[in-house]
Amino acid sequence: MKKKLSVIVPSYNEEKAIPYFYEEITKISKEMNYLDFEYIFVDDGSSDNTLSVIKDYAKKDKRVRFISFSRNFGKEAGILAGLEYSKGDYVTIMDADLQDPPELLEEMYHLIKDEGYDCVGTRRVTRKGEPPIRSFFARMFYKIINKLSDIEMVDGARDYRLMTRQVVDSIISIKEYNRYSKGIFSFVGFKTKWLEYENIKRVAGESKWSFWKLFIYALDGITAFSTLPLVFSAVLGFIFFILAFIIILFIVFRTIVFGDPVAGWPSLVCIILFLSGVQLFSIGVIGQYLSKTYLETKNRPVYIVKETEEK
Ligand code: UDP
Ligand code: MG
Repeated sequence: MKKKLSVIVPSYNEEKAIPYFYEEITKISKEMNYLDFEYIFVDDGSSDNTLSVIKDYAKKDKRVRFISFSRNFGKEAGILAGLEYSKGDYVTIMDADLQDPPELLEEMYHLIKDEGYDCVGTRRVTRKGEPPIRSFFARMFYKIINKLSDIEMVDGARDYRLMTRQVVDSIISIKEYNRYSKGIFSFVGFKTKWLEYENIKRVAGESKWSFWKLFIYALDGITAFSTLPLVFSAVLGFIFFILAFIIILFIVFRTIVFGDPVAGWPSLVCIILFLSGVQLFSIGVIGQYLSKTYLETKNRPVYIVKETEEK
């Protein structure tokens, strides 16, 4: 019996890219005919014709399966849905825009099959074609998060990876609502090989990520995989407490010895402003964690399915 490989494709407004993608992946599946393929397109509440494009392929080709969400739930939700629906012995996640080169699949498969890896990840070594400011913040983010978190986040790591069923099952077993896949992938461990490639421009359509969206995503990553910012707030509070104590002693001493010259209300205002800033910042940090806990305890589903090829 041939082993099965599931290709998960999170797709949000990708009507233009999917035909190119389908053509490429079909080529690859012919080359890798020692495996059975299934393509799982996850329509993430697209507002264009993505779903009907996918349905057309599903009618013609029974390897094509799909899940359609009731609204846009985000790529993380798409990845989870794909992993949960996949039936393959091996599973890969690929963007619809061909930025994840399907040609690597064969090499990835052999690394798992012949060299005993559980998982093969990919990382971009260049960020060509990306706005420089975005690259700069991305680099900063990886520096910061790797300092803050015990889990290693690889700079430039993509979601494009090939995994064995065992790895997939462990990822699915993580039921958290705030899903930060890059962290979850590292969290589950297993023997991982990294392949590198140069950045590739998307074939059609446009990127769904604005700078602001990426910024929020980065914060999510930090709160999901590190609690150090909380410690940081506490330490800051403690330092100011000690400082205040020393200053009070100093002032009391000065008043007793030298009398009480009235002065310094501007400096007082500065100190008040500074300290209330620090306080608000710390409350904000706590608020971030609290809001994540709040959402987590609600136990909402990560995604809601409207239709699949089965029903
Ligand atoms: N995507 C998704 N839901 C979203 C946003 C994106 O499923 O809310 C998919 C998108 O269709 C694509 C992949 O995630 O297949 C990567 O998105 P994109 O190419 O816009 O990101 P970039 O490559 O610019 O980081
Ligand atoms: Mg892309």
